[in-house]
Amino acid sequence: MSNLITNEKSGPGRYFVVDDAGLTSLVSTILLAGSDLATTAWERELMTWFAEHDQNVMGPGLIGFDLDEIAWQPEKFAEQQAFVIRVIDAALGRHRWESLRAEPKLAPEQLRRLRELVQSYRVEYVEPAKRWVWNTPADRIWKCPVHNVYCHGQGCQICNDR
Ligand SMILES: [Zn+2]
Repeated sequence: MSNLITNEKSGPGRYFVVDDAGLTSLVSTILLAGSDLATTAWERELMTWFAEHDQNVMGPGLIGFDLDEIAWQPEKFAEQQAFVIRVIDAALGRHRWESLRAEPKLAPEQLRRLRELVQSYRVEYVEPAKRWVWNTPADRIWKCPVHNVYCHGQGCQICNDR
């Protein structure tokens, strides 16, 4: 099945499609890089939000996302967008890819597509007081002791992908 990664507010054509295996590897590479780079509460929340896109829990073909689902904070948008780009660049540099079960062959192309989407998202799109829509309680943010990546309520995406 396929999953759509979109940025609908920036106009039609701003999306790409990933299959189920591709989405797992895309999210895993982001978690490996971003979990090491995250320092602020928002950055840890963002990684937890990515972690929730785990098809081992959510089911295949159900977990694409739109960049507008991220709880951007307008007053901090520039630094938050820069953080996401920094995470993607670290992932493109194969940050801790040796932790993955298999070489994520499609991840470089997907990460480049995601990078373009993130760059085309604008602060004007952010609604005031935007909140995360997720299942993990904010006081339950935790990291997998094996992979040192942020997890969701049902565990670690990289552990689940075994
Ligand atoms: Zn794990």
